[in-house]
Amino acid sequence: TINVVYLHQKSSKLGNQLNFKARKDMNGHVDDTRVLVAGGAGFIGSHLCDRLINEGHRVLCIDNLYTGRMDNVQHLLESPRFTYAIHDVTAPMSYDDISLIFNLACPASPIHYQKDAIYTTRTAVVGTLNLLELAKANHCPILQASTSEVYGDPLFHPQTEDYYGNVNPVGIRSCFDEGKRSSESLCMDYHRQYGVNVKVIRIFNTYGPRMAENDGRVVSNFITQALSGKDITIYGDGSQTRSFQYVDDLIEAMMRVVKTDNNFTGPVNLGNPNEITIKTLAEMVITLTHSHSQIISRPLPENDPRRRCPDISLAAQQLCGWKPNVNIAEGLSKTIEYFRKKCL
Ligand code: NAD
Ligand code: UDP
Repeated sequence: TINVVYLHQKSSKLGNQLNFKARKDMNGHVDDTRVLVAGGAGFIGSHLCDRLINEGHRVLCIDNLYTGRMDNVQHLLESPRFTYAIHDVTAPMSYDDISLIFNLACPASPIHYQKDAIYTTRTAVVGTLNLLELAKANHCPILQASTSEVYGDPLFHPQTEDYYGNVNPVGIRSCFDEGKRSSESLCMDYHRQYGVNVKVIRIFNTYGPRMAENDGRVVSNFITQALSGKDITIYGDGSQTRSFQYVDDLIEAMMRVVKTDNNFTGPVNLGNPNEITIKTLAEMVITLTHSHSQIISRPLPENDPRRRCPDISLAAQQLCGWKPNVNIAEGLSKTIEYFRKKCL
């Protein structure tokens, strides 16, 4: 049986009427609870669903496919422990028997989050509010996927969690940056006011297989351009830096975060502190793909942060010595392999 459920956005209460059969774990105990992954059909969300299913959990993936794709979770639909529901998180929801929530629902790439900036803010703020209400109703923990963008164009380097950031509140990136800052604030208030067990993670630039070809972010752009022999578009002079984390390292950290005790709320930085310039990234992609593409320059987008690098000491301390294991050459090679198969 293929476990797909289509819920209409306005009928989200249907969630209560779904027939989730009780299952027995290996010790014969009936476990009727499930992990809810909002944004589970996206790039990071689908890797998280894989990991949860592989570990034997039941997963309810909700997504409205705003930037995600069914392709990303198609292979999971055969599993009786995986259920997919179309749901826009800006609409309230009332699912029962939820043991843990991951909130990843939000467009993440600048071109997508700027396309309908008001909807981005609505998703980041109202969507998080709805999921916090769900966590409160189910008495379960919630992990909120925040972002290094809360630091804006940082004046301190590398960024530690106690840095309040340097964000333009009225710029073209503010729908995302301020939306995510508000979502962090909501999480902490649900924790203080209602005792909800919240875990806020600040994700730094993450890449890997299943990034969408039209995603617009730098890694997918450079790889698809290199593989198709098109010019590689560096915005500005390419001296701005980012620190790129391979998706498997992030998923491992997320699984560790949800196992921390109730007092640990974060925020905690999750990223790879290996900082490189965008120009270096372009050169690496050309080398690894053996491409003949030329590097060309395009205007730097407004408010594009100059530097970004996480301080991950808190993560190492709280997550049993977690640190990223996949270096950039290895991670890029796996991602190139994915796009090569997809583009051919
Ligand atoms: P993505 O665009 O691939 O995934 C986001 C998912 O959320 C998509 O499947 C999309 O359809 C879904 N979604 C968007 N709006 C929704 C709504 N209103 N209701 C239901 N579903 C909705 O992006 P990603 O890179 O996988 O990012 C996942 C999360 O991690 C996002 O919250 C993002 O802000 C955060 N994050 C990602 C990065 C990164 O580098 N990839 C960095 C920082 C933070
Ligand atoms: N960038 C680039 N060429 C591209 C896409 C992005 O030079 O085709 C730059 C972009 O201006 C930014 C960096 O790469 O300085 C990372 O951009 P991305 O959109 O991936 O993430 P973010 O800006 O959110 O860190």
